[in-house]
Amino acid sequence: MFQATDAEIDAGLREAQLIAVLPTLAYLTGDLTLLRPELISQPLLAAQPQGGLTAEQQEGIRLLARQTLIKFRDSGGVSRHQCSQSEIQDIMSYTVGAFVSDDYVPLMLEELSVAGEDLRQPKWSREEIAPKRSFKVLIVGAGMSGILAGYRLKQAGIDFEILEKNADVGGTWLENTYPGCRVDSANHVYSYSFAQRSDWPLHFSTQDVLLEYFRGCVEKFDLATSIQFQTQVKEMEWLEAESVWRVSIQRGPSGPIEVLYAQAVISAVGQLNRPKMPSIKGRESFSGQSFHSANWPDSLDLTGKSVAVIGTGASGVQLIPEVAKVAKTVSIYQRTPPWLTPIAHYHDKIGPGLQWLFQNVPAYAQWYRFLLFWRTTEGVLASCVVDPDWTDGEASVSAANRHLRDRLLLYFDAVFADRPDLHEKTVPKYAPFSKRVALDNGSWAACLRSDHVELITDHIDHIGSSGIVDAEGTLRTADVIIYATGFEASDFLTPMRVVGRDGADLHKMWNGEARAYLGITIPHFPNFYCMYGPNTNIVANGSIIFFSECETHYILGCIEEMLRSGDSAWDIKVDVHDRFNERVDHGNKNMAWGAVSVNSWYKNSSGRVAQNWPFTMLEYWQLTRRPETSDYLRTH
Ligand SMILES: Cc1cc2nc3c(=O)[nH]c(=O)nc-3n(C[C@H](O)[C@H](O)[C@H](O)COP(=O)(O)OP(=O)(O)OC[C@H]3O[C@@H](n4cnc5c(N)ncnc54)[C@H](O)[C@@H]3O)c2cc1C
Repeated sequence: MFQATDAEIDAGLREAQLIAVLPTLAYLTGDLTLLRPELISQPLLAAQPQGGLTAEQQEGIRLLARQTLIKFRDSGGVSRHQCSQSEIQDIMSYTVGAFVSDDYVPLMLEELSVAGEDLRQPKWSREEIAPKRSFKVLIVGAGMSGILAGYRLKQAGIDFEILEKNADVGGTWLENTYPGCRVDSANHVYSYSFAQRSDWPLHFSTQDVLLEYFRGCVEKFDLATSIQFQTQVKEMEWLEAESVWRVSIQRGPSGPIEVLYAQAVISAVGQLNRPKMPSIKGRESFSGQSFHSANWPDSLDLTGKSVAVIGTGASGVQLIPEVAKVAKTVSIYQRTPPWLTPIAHYHDKIGPGLQWLFQNVPAYAQWYRFLLFWRTTEGVLASCVVDPDWTDGEASVSAANRHLRDRLLLYFDAVFADRPDLHEKTVPKYAPFSKRVALDNGSWAACLRSDHVELITDHIDHIGSSGIVDAEGTLRTADVIIYATGFEASDFLTPMRVVGRDGADLHKMWNGEARAYLGITIPHFPNFYCMYGPNTNIVANGSIIFFSECETHYILGCIEEMLRSGDSAWDIKVDVHDRFNERVDHGNKNMAWGAVSVNSWYKNSSGRVAQNWPFTMLEYWQLTRRPETSDYLRTH
């Protein structure tokens, strides 16, 4: 029941993310006349504070919302209206300022989980459908994906264990402890649909907050006793006669190899946890301290040090301003500059008024989640699509992409107005969304402008014992070198050895070209599933958790069908897999990140985009609703 004083309502509305306010109230009251055309936001201004709503529009929304919330409270504070599908569609369209097709309604009801229910939980259990069948699943990895898979299997009553090489859960959010590490997808969307928090302390949580969230989920879902820590999977082999996987593990760094057996395996090893070190001549000869951003030394103190940082990708942009706060000098070596999206509240705490709204106005946090989802996925997809008739070289791929480029340029023009040298070095020559876009609240720009920080765009020639020598022959001495050089993202599932049917060796078969059907199943590897596998990543800062939830839904669907039918093995058909991958490859070539020749971690060594999903989230959700039994070679 919604209860509040007028003063609380006023304080909340003062800090509200206003675009989500009228949709929430329309949803609660069923009064769609609240969706006033004159108060609608412009999707093109999404990155601006309050989505570019004018001061007059903002006041209009606050006034209308105030009256409506008071009326809602005074009439009992309970929503008595059940929105129809078409009403929800209208509210969604209004929220994003553009037409949203009705296909999104069921997806969004599930994703938003407005009443806090878990709409994606399995609607069956092994006990019900195959009480006599023993079916064990081994999950490799206890990051966001492995935790999710474990929870879903637990809900379905399937026997499972999670094998994790680290001493704790969290994966990415355990390993990346560099200063400034945070999520670039706002937390109201970077969280499980069934474990949303209305009390996130920040809009974009720092690593420690995310780690606590995932640890909290493990506790809440009672998964801790199902995880074997410090247990690395070395090798997996499919045993055809028994229809089981033999999984070889090693406990600790030097324990003996042990063997486990399971009817199915879920690989949840992530894409971004094998640090990539550049092959620079003389790297080993450096006499100071050097490390990768994902291996940040525990009690490192950079105060007064001369620090060199190689790389200005997502991690570099986050950590360098923090390093610059204490270091004597910072030399930044940049190969390609990132596009920057200005997000004023990127580092901000969520103020008490907004916290109050999230926690007290029913459905507000969920409509805000929808807004974030749309803005970072479907809402930007059109500006990534290549227009084959567009001629702007590498600078843009279509009129919409050019428009985006021009808008992003305004930020560079503003922050480097009096620094043409930095403007020249930081404005990317390539089209927006060819690489991951970094977020900036001004701290990156301010850091680059600092007197003790130097941005070097000359190539590195070599590293010597005292520092880095660039192509011009200039030596910059350093006490510490930090490699913010990303991850071996294209080497999916390495260094594990995976052997499927008829001795098929996964890595030999892939030969550096990782592919899977829906990013999940691979021909000749029955009952073997990937999460965050090939082509399940997104460029525009949307949430990987969405993909992982779709993947678990599909994997559980496969297991359910096997249990119901009595089948012992499901192997995706080669033609189904190949047709799917042809479409994905074609789709990626039509997107900025596939078409433009700029170097990025989205491409493997042959230039194929092995990471990204080129279509809508809706399509991925639809494709993972249920496995088609006819897509699989089935063994009974
Ligand atoms: C710095 C950084 C920022 C990011 N920001 C965002 C963001 O803003 N939004 C977003 O959506 N995504 C972001 N990501 C991507 C992030 O990886 C995913 O969101 C998510 O954390 C992936 O979870 P996962 O469980 O699939 O993989 P991971 O988190 O990588 O977990 C994999 C787990 O598997 C374990 N493992 C691996 N191999 C083995 C083995 N052989 N045996 C046993 N265990 C093994 C690892 O130890 C690890 O615990 C970011 C990644 C990084 C590195």
